[in-house]
Amino acid sequence: MTEKEKQELKQSIEKEISLLSAEIDKLQQSLKPIKKDCSLDSIDHKMLKQDQNINIQRYEEAKKRLNRLKHAYLKVDTDEYGICKECEEEISLARLKLIPESEYCVACMNELGL
Ligand SMILES: [Zn+2]
Repeated sequence: MTEKEKQELKQSIEKEISLLSAEIDKLQQSLKPIKKDCSLDSIDHKMLKQDQNINIQRYEEAKKRLNRLKHAYLKVDTDEYGICKECEEEISLARLKLIPESEYCVACMNELGL
């Protein structure tokens, strides 16, 4: 990987991180306990609860991805970055551009069922 490619990847990771942080903030807002609202019947209330459960899942996923991205960001400049943890081959740049936090190449990911 060239320096230029590394820089590009770092920039796209930074962008992902800021997008994801904004999403996490938004999700966090929606996770506040639902107030008892007399204008809502129990079905509406149930649906709100369901939405909230979906948001909780999204929130947890987003937080995990944020951690992985931050981790990847710190690793871009090291030799470890872009090397598959399983077969130690280089992960393709196209894949890294799409998922910068990738730790496995496509072949190993499929094999490991990730
Ligand atoms: Zn591999």
